[in-house]
Amino acid sequence: CYTLNLLKSIGNIHLISKEEKLCCCKLRIVEFDDHFDELLEKGKSDDTTIITANNSISFPELGFWHQRYYYYSKYDEGIQMDDECWWSVTPEIISEYIAKLAGNNAIVIDGFCGSGGNVIQFSKFCSKIYAIDIDKTRLDICKHNCEVYKCKDNVVFILSDFLLMENNPIFTNKADYIFLSPPWGGVKYKNSDVYSIKNLMTPSIYDIIRVSLNVSKRIMFYLPRTLLLEELFEILSEILNKTQSGSG
Ligand code: ADP
Repeated sequence: CYTLNLLKSIGNIHLISKEEKLCCCKLRIVEFDDHFDELLEKGKSDDTTIITANNSISFPELGFWHQRYYYYSKYDEGIQMDDECWWSVTPEIISEYIAKLAGNNAIVIDGFCGSGGNVIQFSKFCSKIYAIDIDKTRLDICKHNCEVYKCKDNVVFILSDFLLMENNPIFTNKADYIFLSPPWGGVKYKNSDVYSIKNLMTPSIYDIIRVSLNVSKRIMFYLPRTLLLEELFEILSEILNKTQSGSG
């Protein structure tokens, strides 16, 4: 999902458990639709011999290269990427929208920061951002890309497995939002008409939500538009029911 159209905002959804108890969960879904703007067009018109002449550029498909300004408008100012980053980076226009949604006083945790597309926008529009990644190379790329965008001094970089963050005291009562764009399962999601979050997402969606809810009650998920919504509702109901019965 690399494009944007903000017309389809579905609003709030309240989940009711089987016993007809209202689960403490409100969902707001924003769908980003096909949108071809000038940044996408700018990359497309490029002469592809530029890339073949420069072996140091790594990208999995030519299509990603053509979309580089769509991911990072400052791409030419020294943005770094690796093959995996190209798959997972959020287009800038969408990252900006998400960051504005959190708001300028928000403290946000990005649990799977990758090359930093979202971190950069959270740094610009929010109060503080914790950028977590399990991979040192990616975290270094993220730091570098934040420098390219001259991010404010409000980014904390953390090299860790997000799932180990649950009891980390630096997050106690800190974050207003957790932003999550966990591994979707590489490109496999593109081969199917529907995206099963249960089968394709790693780490397990159950673990991700359980850990997130222990850190903040507001989760922002960036997910493929082919997501099976019913499956997400089912997972949320299961987790919330368990949480409620656990706490009496
Ligand atoms: P995609 O499947 O969408 O291409 P990636 O495999 O590139 O996603 O993962 C996105 C980012 O999440 C990567 O930078 C990766 O290092 C990071 N990541 C993966 N697992 C974890 C984890 N358990 N905790 C924190 N970061 C993780």
